[in-house]
Amino acid sequence: MPTISQWWTARREAAALRRRPIADDLWKRTLVRYPFLRSPADPGASALRRMSSLFLDRKEFTAVPPLRLSNDVVVAVAAQACLPVLHLGLERYDGFVGIVLHPDQVVARRQHLDEDGVLHEYDELLSGEAVEGGPVMLSWRDVRSSGRTAAEGYNVVIHEFAHVLDMADGVANGVPPLPPDIERAEWVATLTAAFDQLVARVAAQAPSTLDPYGAEAPEEFFAVASEAFFVNAAALRAEHPALYALLARFYRCDPAAAT
Ligand SMILES: [Zn+2]
Repeated sequence: MPTISQWWTARREAAALRRRPIADDLWKRTLVRYPFLRSPADPGASALRRMSSLFLDRKEFTAVPPLRLSNDVVVAVAAQACLPVLHLGLERYDGFVGIVLHPDQVVARRQHLDEDGVLHEYDELLSGEAVEGGPVMLSWRDVRSSGRTAAEGYNVVIHEFAHVLDMADGVANGVPPLPPDIERAEWVATLTAAFDQLVARVAAQAPSTLDPYGAEAPEEFFAVASEAFFVNAAALRAEHPALYALLARFYRCDPAAAT
């Protein structure tokens, strides 16, 4: 017998699925464009399709002109955003509602006070940004090309939503709230070892399956490692087996299993 709260949840979800269904042809197109959404255990990605409907029902999308929202646009974002939480639960994203889509990358004016107290101003080109409790910003140009850039381990949606998971405890530091079977010390040791390796490779200009941007800071490393875990899993497992195994325990899935 389900409890009253389970019954209410099921009823609420059934209503959301009726409000925000994803049509068969649209879902098929989405899987062709972003093949990493499929998994060997669920080739039609039906669990992801269901969660994507719930995501669309709970989140508010805004498009910055000339970009216009279409079903293809919002489903592409929803499906990629749900991939990291498919086995963790959509409530991990309860801390924010808004998603702002820009047509292209955005120039952000940054200020940085150095150790000598000198203020430096510079422009940063952003393809996405996640701030605690605030909207997630994404460049549609980058989202749209994520099928092609998967081989480089690049995925802006997974990157920003990994930051959302990381910030759930109030700090962006590369340590998201961990399940009981992962000790903080193990997490920090494994990620730090892989981070140091990436920093050394970037310094030596040696190639890596991980985006060099991950060498910027531990929180960027977690986001970059999450991208590779979901879109370039076999290569990540070959290059960083310990990191891959830990992320598989964290995300409760094994995307490289069939390769
Ligand atoms: Zn980042």
